[in-house]
Amino acid sequence: MESMLNEIETRLFINGEFRASSSRETFKVVYPYTKQVVAQVQTADIQDVEDAVTAANAAFPAWRDLGTDKRAIYLRRLAQLILESNNELAKLETLSTGRPISQFFDASVAADLFAYYAGGGWTAQGTASLNTPDHLNLTVKQPYGVVALIIPWNFPLVMLAGKLAPALAAGNTVVLKSSEKAPLTSLYVAKLIEKAGFSPGVINIISGFGNPTGAALASHMIVRCISFTGSTATGQKIQAAAAESNMKHVHMELGGKSPAIIFEDADLETAVTQTQFSVQFNSGQVCSANSRIYVHESVAKQFVKLFREKFAAVRMGDPLDPATTHGPQVDLLQYNRIKEYLDIGEKDGTLSLGGDANDGFFVRPTIFEGVAEDSRLMQEEVFGPVVVINTFFTETEAIQKANNSGFGLYAAVFTKDIDRAVRLAKALDAGTVGVNCTSPTNAKDTAFGGFKMSGNGREGLLYSLDSFLETKSILIKT
Ligand code: NAD
Repeated sequence: MESMLNEIETRLFINGEFRASSSRETFKVVYPYTKQVVAQVQTADIQDVEDAVTAANAAFPAWRDLGTDKRAIYLRRLAQLILESNNELAKLETLSTGRPISQFFDASVAADLFAYYAGGGWTAQGTASLNTPDHLNLTVKQPYGVVALIIPWNFPLVMLAGKLAPALAAGNTVVLKSSEKAPLTSLYVAKLIEKAGFSPGVINIISGFGNPTGAALASHMIVRCISFTGSTATGQKIQAAAAESNMKHVHMELGGKSPAIIFEDADLETAVTQTQFSVQFNSGQVCSANSRIYVHESVAKQFVKLFREKFAAVRMGDPLDPATTHGPQVDLLQYNRIKEYLDIGEKDGTLSLGGDANDGFFVRPTIFEGVAEDSRLMQEEVFGPVVVINTFFTETEAIQKANNSGFGLYAAVFTKDIDRAVRLAKALDAGTVGVNCTSPTNAKDTAFGGFKMSGNGREGLLYSLDSFLETKSILIKT
């Protein structure tokens, strides 16, 4: 491990070169399990942001004019290099976030995304019309220019790929800011970008905090579009900065408080397996985790018994050990946040499993029952392995409770009644409704995004590509 730590890239990647930050300031990346400092990473300051945007701006015309096929060659090369780096990326991701290495499948997902958008670039088309006399009217799609991508820490590599691949395929140049909690995989990908032969400035990867690094990108006058994934509170700040600066386009993938509804006719085994996975994977640090479960009164006892058994059967330990299935939370801040919600749960409901945390940042899978609907535990995102199981009697009541949230990212329904499933799918305020299944979703097969405070715009499929394209009309008098 020591030799690997010595090789970790910690500098900024700007204009095709690795370099120190202008201020020489650094921040620590800590392995949450041992609290060992894994790396001291260079922080991009305002000058570095300026340099990165300037480089991306200079590289834009040539990258745009390269055309879809030639851009695709680079994307495919990068996909291959990511696949070949699976083991290194897995270790870096585990060291920065504490996610068990046994849960790492992200290199193949990321590589797939680059390969998919390499081909998808050709669909960046508009429409043509001869409807107006003496005119050929065209509506075409073209890249914005410089786009900024700001990503969170919970799945750093997949988040990078989900934005970078379509942004590049559409013909934009990019400044990507990783999360201050997990910058290492992005920096590793920067090395692969160099190897893949992208021209200097096409992709710039910088590390740093929300302030000043992210904020400087959000308010930059040259950046024409910003694609953000993270918390709703940060999304609001970025949207405000975008509006106040140059009205740049914003695309927001934000937080959630996703409900799952279990009807009396559901296959309970499936419902339990799916819902407990959703809230346990990555120690509950998943935007679409179904942290509110509503189960029909008549099957509640049985459901809770099965859920408790499965949820408790995790193996906590060193996330680098392939046998570990439950890792620590990402850091002290996150751990303390969750502890606050455990106290709220004790006050506003009944503890049914877990509820304890230890100073290794571990939070045991936790269930509360009978929590008041207006409790902060029901209304705010915990981002930990903490689930509330409440009950309902009627379909109307279930819908009303599920929709009683400021968020609207993902909702799941478990029933064998297809008519009911369709009624619920229509009625639930969520960007995605899973019938007899929960997240994760497949970005190549469905759109993903939120209603309400969970965001605006959609990622996945060609929705991502479209989010990185301007629409222009060209009217030709004949
Ligand atoms: P966060 O909002 O704290 O940070 C996200 C990113 O924004 C980081 O890179 C951070 O440095 C940056 N940032 C912070 N303040 C900024 C500012 N003022 N201007 C510009 N950038 C700023 O979120 P997080 O803790 O990294 O991630 C967890 C959150 O992300 C959860 O709410 C989760 O639900 C959400 N999330 C959503 C999705 C989705 O697809 N909807 C996916 C993953 C995570």
